[in-house]
Amino acid sequence: AHPEIVQIEAFLTDPSGVQRGKILRPSELPGAYAHGRPLPCSILSLDMTGADVEETGLLWEEGDSDRPCRPVPGTITLSPWRETPTAQVILTSFEPDGRPSEADPRHALGRVVGDLAARGLTPVVAVELEFYLLDAKAAASHKAVPPTAANGFAQSQLQAYLMQDLADFAGFLDEVYAGAAAMGLPARTLISEYAPAQFEIVLEHRSDALRACDDAILYKRLVKGVAERHGLVATFMAKPHAGFSGSGMHLHASLAGPDGGNLFAGSGPDDSPLLLAAIAGLEATMAEGMAFFAPNANSYRRFRPNSYAPTGPAWAFDNRTVPIRVTAGPPQARHLEHRVCGADANPYVALAVVLAGMLEGIEAGLTPSAPITGNGYAQIAPSLPRHWPEALRRARASEILPRRLGARFTDIFLTIKEAECDRFFAEIADRDYAWYLRLA
Ligand code: GLU
Ligand code: MG
Ligand code: MG
Repeated sequence: AHPEIVQIEAFLTDPSGVQRGKILRPSELPGAYAHGRPLPCSILSLDMTGADVEETGLLWEEGDSDRPCRPVPGTITLSPWRETPTAQVILTSFEPDGRPSEADPRHALGRVVGDLAARGLTPVVAVELEFYLLDAKAAASHKAVPPTAANGFAQSQLQAYLMQDLADFAGFLDEVYAGAAAMGLPARTLISEYAPAQFEIVLEHRSDALRACDDAILYKRLVKGVAERHGLVATFMAKPHAGFSGSGMHLHASLAGPDGGNLFAGSGPDDSPLLLAAIAGLEATMAEGMAFFAPNANSYRRFRPNSYAPTGPAWAFDNRTVPIRVTAGPPQARHLEHRVCGADANPYVALAVVLAGMLEGIEAGLTPSAPITGNGYAQIAPSLPRHWPEALRRARASEILPRRLGARFTDIFLTIKEAECDRFFAEIADRDYAWYLRLA
């Protein structure tokens, strides 16, 4: 560790994508690498509200025993937004006998990556994240209000790719870039999206899928941390404003062979039989994967016609109106962009489900639908689950995903989300009274 660092934030990512952990002193770090640091196993059975979901069996049945959590080599970075000199490191959780914890989402992704590796296939992955900046005061009372002059920012415009937006938010954006450089994060382009104060950050491709997701987690923490310093809240929730585009997490993926060559390479859209089989697997598993791509009640508000977020499984060449876009560009760089996940999805889980779909298509030799040309929304039946309970039911019926991600992991994930979904609908919201109180 750096000589002047006084503390290290050590955390893992729970099934919902929330970071949970503890602060270590620098002197504790060597021991953490050697034997792990203990965290109670129920840390992986909390829902988004922080409620313990006992039905996972991780709390009382296990006596809430400790699990050794080890820092992931190479993930220790500075936390440049903190006033106190602070570093951070990503942890993963193990069973006392040394096996990877089945409840840990990072290991679920590791399992799928391992199955691909056994077939000589290495996923090459890049994560693209959209987010909104909001006024922090309004956010504290649970209101989504774009930043205003009061925050020192001019009102952002409702226009995409505006250089003026980037200039107006330069104070924030410069600090994000400087922070990413200090952390060694492979940040690439940054654009202003279609809505007030919505931005997108693209991370570099990595031939280590786990590290691509580690980058995404560290990046989200940086964006949130820097926003806070500017009196803003950065949110990756899928649909904060009813009237504007949601925030997606697009996953770019190709497969490399043992020599590192891109197996999706080709000059036409369908030169690579492996690419076609992978697309077919993604189409076949898209509906059952929705609960993982869109893990919250709010996530489903994003999928609207002509929203750039998909409503039915399909693919196309160089076309953003479908969930699977095969990119144009140099043949060697050919890859697919999976456009379904919300920015609120857990990157490890979402990518595990995407790679599982690709592998399934390849192993089963599936054939994709005919590629779409023109506006996909006008041609594809909107057959993906439209709401959370439906998506959870489809996921429960999946045979493929438990087999690929681990039966125990998918059960824990779905058990947590089913409990959270029940809690969501059990609450009588203000809207219930507004709509029904007087008229019913
Ligand atoms: N914001 C859109 C979404 O919800 C994506 C827009 C884009 O293609 O960048 O997925
Ligand atoms: Mg975008
Ligand atoms: Mg994109």
